[in-house]
Amino acid sequence: MKKIALFLFHSLVFVLLTILTQVGGVIYLLSIWMARKWPVKPRYKTLLVFLALYLFVTLLLVPPVASVLGREKLSHTSKIKPAFFLTDLLNRNYVRPEMNKMLHEAENRLAGTAIEIRYLDANFPFCYGFPLLPHLSHNDGKKIDIAFVYQTRDGKITGKQKSVSGYGVFEGPKPGEPNQMRQCRNRGYRHYGFTRYLTLGRINSKLVFSASGTKRLIESFLGSKRLGKIFIEPHLKQRLHLTDPRIRYQGCRSVRHDDHIHLQLR
Ligand SMILES: [Zn+2]
Repeated sequence: MKKIALFLFHSLVFVLLTILTQVGGVIYLLSIWMARKWPVKPRYKTLLVFLALYLFVTLLLVPPVASVLGREKLSHTSKIKPAFFLTDLLNRNYVRPEMNKMLHEAENRLAGTAIEIRYLDANFPFCYGFPLLPHLSHNDGKKIDIAFVYQTRDGKITGKQKSVSGYGVFEGPKPGEPNQMRQCRNRGYRHYGFTRYLTLGRINSKLVFSASGTKRLIESFLGSKRLGKIFIEPHLKQRLHLTDPRIRYQGCRSVRHDDHIHLQLR
């Protein structure tokens, strides 16, 4: 009985780490095996081996191998940074090289403004078709989510977010704007707003959505020929007066896009 419980526990950790980081599940199995070979008996031996191995693989092994296979890490600059401090450590920051080029072009277009490009989930380093959950389409190195731009109540643009993860704080429709959330709910898509559970905590409650900053940010991407599509909720598309045909609605099968912007390459 104890063996079955242990097997189920290891299986669960394997699946969770794979969903979260792609390589973490395999590293966990390797850690169990290595810890058994380790003759000394410190407490939390498997955890220690896992942490050391995970850091080694993520920081030193994955980047060069992913690069050979066609994906690279999102590069950081003074204006391009992750919105969530764990995104890079969880290997959720890999893209095709064209994406880095597109972001740098956008960064140049934003020169002289206070607007930053704060990225959220992109793709995992390996395997075409391996989804980065909960985003089913982030599976080919061509997709990335970008955080909205926020400002203080007196209009000062900031790079800060309203949730720890960067997801789940919605800029909902105002009276008179299209309400896609209601439509999707009425059609039975109950999961449409489930990202509200992924905030990991709300922060910076005094900040407000910057319509002009977010519009300028989106326009910086629209200037690129590498851009395929942008997803944002219809009420924000209307509010920001965005008319470019590459700005689409993602459909009720996806999740709300009034807490972030989704970009994909051509
Ligand atoms: Zn996305």
